[in-house]
Amino acid sequence: MKQLYESLGISKEVYEYGEGILEALKERFAAIDETAEYNQLKVIAAMQKAHVSAECFNASSGYGYDDIGRDTLEEVYAAAFHTEAALVRPQITCGTHALAIALAGNLRPGDELLSISGRPYDTLEEVIGIRPSCGSLAEYGVTYAQVDLLEDGSFDYEGIEKALRPQTRLIEIQRSKGYQTRPTLSVAQIGEAIAFIKERRPDVIVMVDNCYGEFVERLEPSDFDADMIVGSLIKNPGGGLAPIGGYIAGTKECVERAAYRLTCPGLGKEVGASLGVMRSFYQGFFLAPTVTAAALKGAIFAANVYERLGFKVVPNGSESRHDIIQAVEFGFPEGLTSFCEGIQAAAPVDSYVTPEPWAMPGYDSDVIMAAGAFIQGSSIELSADGPLKPPYAVYFQGGLTWPHAKLGILMSLQKLYEKGHVTLPVKQQ
Ligand SMILES: *Cc1c(COP(=O)(O)O)cnc(C)c1O
Repeated sequence: MKQLYESLGISKEVYEYGEGILEALKERFAAIDETAEYNQLKVIAAMQKAHVSAECFNASSGYGYDDIGRDTLEEVYAAAFHTEAALVRPQITCGTHALAIALAGNLRPGDELLSISGRPYDTLEEVIGIRPSCGSLAEYGVTYAQVDLLEDGSFDYEGIEKALRPQTRLIEIQRSKGYQTRPTLSVAQIGEAIAFIKERRPDVIVMVDNCYGEFVERLEPSDFDADMIVGSLIKNPGGGLAPIGGYIAGTKECVERAAYRLTCPGLGKEVGASLGVMRSFYQGFFLAPTVTAAALKGAIFAANVYERLGFKVVPNGSESRHDIIQAVEFGFPEGLTSFCEGIQAAAPVDSYVTPEPWAMPGYDSDVIMAAGAFIQGSSIELSADGPLKPPYAVYFQGGLTWPHAKLGILMSLQKLYEKGHVTLPVKQQ
């Protein structure tokens, strides 16, 4: 094994350091496997309940009327996430798009959108109009308010109480930290906040940005009364196989309103050809619990590898996990770039290219991204990225298999080690 790693470019020192870290993680990995087992059963049960058949994998074209594969898949998502309905489509181009239609479909002029988990994900700033943008919700007369999380990352209940106004129509909660260094919210924490809101304002719609959170825990925010959970299929629920897509799962009313925005008023869910991607949507969802488990192991391994070397890691090496993202703060740009070079060098695809920082649409600073992915930009596949600005934090996520995640992390360390940015602790005898 060591020889094979060496032939891939991992030195003996880096390999042995990694093995030492892994020794201590056995129990946590066993617990992750149990969660995957639970969620796998949940998905199989949903597929059986919805009567998934081989016919569901056929492609439809044109209008896509009566597409049984598409309609059954939406039943599967609704059954797995315990919601009344779901919208799962290749016409949803990404997570931002799914969130945008969930918001635009459910908000009307004069309504207020309230975020209670602080600043939303970068790309949503333009959707909402926090950064002025053509076609934003702000242009349509939807106002925006925000309550930041408290210092310790928990909800500011006093602030939320004060921010609830008669025009508050929809509350957004972002589960994952995104490009921030706050802790990710647990499903239990989100559930508590939903109960708090519903007690005061049962008329308000609660939407959870569930990106990166699916199948990390046994329950989802929809198990706690969220009206909509929203995510991307090139993250967890696509299982690495979905080539495009997003989902919205929630109440029948909310999902239908979003569908009228995705297609158009009057047509809603009734149109939308599935174009031959259904097999990968089903199979990806089927694999998603174990793929998410692989990614989670990678995140925990990375946290422990870099924490022990003195870097700040979020979450830390021993914290419980609520999404698959791992942040490592290097504090200097070469740390971030070397890490990304390592992830790229360990990839099955495009391993021979070197990632460079670049301006990206939707982001306000240069971003470096490493991915040797089968699906462009897929972040359930092993990938790392980070904005080139202090604290030079890398956001690392994904890994379709645990051995690949392990190789990627060892390779990132190898790059830092070779350039003299880290010294490895002497092995204890
Ligand atoms: C990835 C992500 C999004 C946006 O998804 P894209 O597919 O990149 O558009 C939104 N919110 C969170 C928390 C995310 O992690």
